[in-house]
Amino acid sequence: MRRITIAIDGFSSCGKSTLARQLAQHLGYTYIDSGAMYRAMALFAMENGLVKDGVLNKEGLLALLDGVDIRFQHDPMTDRSATTLNGRNVEHRIRTLEVSDQVTLVSPVPEVRAKLVRLQQRMGREKGVVMDGRDIGTVVFPDAEVKLYMTARPEVRALRRYHELKAKGAEVTLAEVEANIRRRDLDDTTRAADPLTKAPGAIEIDNSDITAQEQFEVALGHVLDVLARVGQE
Ligand code: C5P
Repeated sequence: MRRITIAIDGFSSCGKSTLARQLAQHLGYTYIDSGAMYRAMALFAMENGLVKDGVLNKEGLLALLDGVDIRFQHDPMTDRSATTLNGRNVEHRIRTLEVSDQVTLVSPVPEVRAKLVRLQQRMGREKGVVMDGRDIGTVVFPDAEVKLYMTARPEVRALRRYHELKAKGAEVTLAEVEANIRRRDLDDTTRAADPLTKAPGAIEIDNSDITAQEQFEVALGHVLDVLARVGQE
């Protein structure tokens, strides 16, 4: 069967990665979390003293950008893909609220985006990928056969992310998590470079009031329709 590209964009903590993983597993495709790459870039900036008082030393980051190596490697401990930054597994570190709070300092930088988009396009060259992010259907894979745009009410997203972080033992409050989500929504939709927008032809799924399983069934229905269509071409 012909393999396609599935692009999933949407707001922070919208369940994009849950859906992307389910689709990839069902179809035998590769799941790629593009947000993890921006998070790893933010961690790099933080660890190299390039963020002070909420301000990024952009020139400093650009001077070191060529030496930043971000990849995904299979982690036998979790049997999942893990994000590596210059050879070090940073999967846990990049999921903290601290990194969520700094990531929109690096994600608007055009040179950062150009580097990561290039890597993402290379990963998707052979098709058979499900990638989630903010600009996947608009910039990374504008020719993706399936484009999904996910939304949910901010308070629903905050509660889900809060429970996720608490389950990992994080010391956070619901108010902090909601503030982070609302700020990233604003940053990601208003930045000059590749802002989050609904790609032309994308199918919108609001999952505020549906379960992950229901959302998967809706999305899979669209994917199967497209697969049947491209199979006849
Ligand atoms: O998806 P996730 O919430 O992990 O993404 C973290 C941040 O990375 C987003 O808030 C956004 O600023 C940035 N991002 C981006 N483009 C993508 C994926 C993520 O700008 N394709």
